[in-house]
Amino acid sequence: MMKGTVNIKGVTVNASHGAYGFEREEVHPFTADAVLYTEDIDCGDELARTCDYGKAADIMAEELSAPSVNLIETLAARIAKRLAAEFGCDCSATVHKPEAPLKVRFSDVSVTAHARFTRVCLGLGSNMGDRKGYLDGAVAAITADKDNRDVRVSSYIATAPYGGAAKGEFLNACLVMRTLKSPSGLLSMCAALESTAGRVRRQRWGDRTLDADILFYGGEIIDVPGLTVPHTDMCNRGFVLGPLCEIAPGTVHPVYGKTVADLYAELKRREK
Ligand code: AMP
Repeated sequence: MMKGTVNIKGVTVNASHGAYGFEREEVHPFTADAVLYTEDIDCGDELARTCDYGKAADIMAEELSAPSVNLIETLAARIAKRLAAEFGCDCSATVHKPEAPLKVRFSDVSVTAHARFTRVCLGLGSNMGDRKGYLDGAVAAITADKDNRDVRVSSYIATAPYGGAAKGEFLNACLVMRTLKSPSGLLSMCAALESTAGRVRRQRWGDRTLDADILFYGGEIIDVPGLTVPHTDMCNRGFVLGPLCEIAPGTVHPVYGKTVADLYAELKRREK
């Protein structure tokens, strides 16, 4: 496939965005440009396989026409994210405000936002009730979310409970996808999936209808309150490394510098 860009320039709408009260009482031109980074520019001359610039321009005009906001940063970020989600490719969006209330003579001010997909791996597990139903439900919700693309799911494997507190046998799976979500956005998605599955947190490592964990977020190492990525202890868990090895064996663990396939082989040697 041949990479390329689809470029839209100069979509202009009169609107009343601005941080100062007087700006909300007037209309001024706001102009948006966008660059869509497609992997498939040589798309067999088929409109359905490319980024339709007519549709893109409509989305840009719609976002510029939204109720007033303080900052063109907000507009640029919204446009970049919406176009990226719509077309499934990275996007940069620029919003210009040539009549911004500056004290000096100038020709234009503009802001550019970049919406980028990141390749992520998630781990799913269930050991209560309709375990397959809970995993299927999570996969369906993840796939239906336009922030997520190219979702690939491992087989579901039955594994013994882990950590002492859980009693029932688990069904585990991993998935790999591209997402527009930030790490905290992805964690919120995992929490929402768990609560949709009716999970109640009674006990650490206890029985659960659904557990959804972030294993990898690109090659990032994240250690902030409430989120550790790569997931702690994943290298000691066959029920994570096994399914992950099916769908993403070459992914490199950014802390250990080893592939998932190597980490899984090491774990199996240790467990012998
Ligand atoms: P558990 O569902 O029992 O595995 O624990 C979930 C808690 O672990 C949540 O409150 C998260 O804030 C926290 N957490 C830390 N790192 C991660 C991660 N990589 N993926 C999912 N949850 C995480």
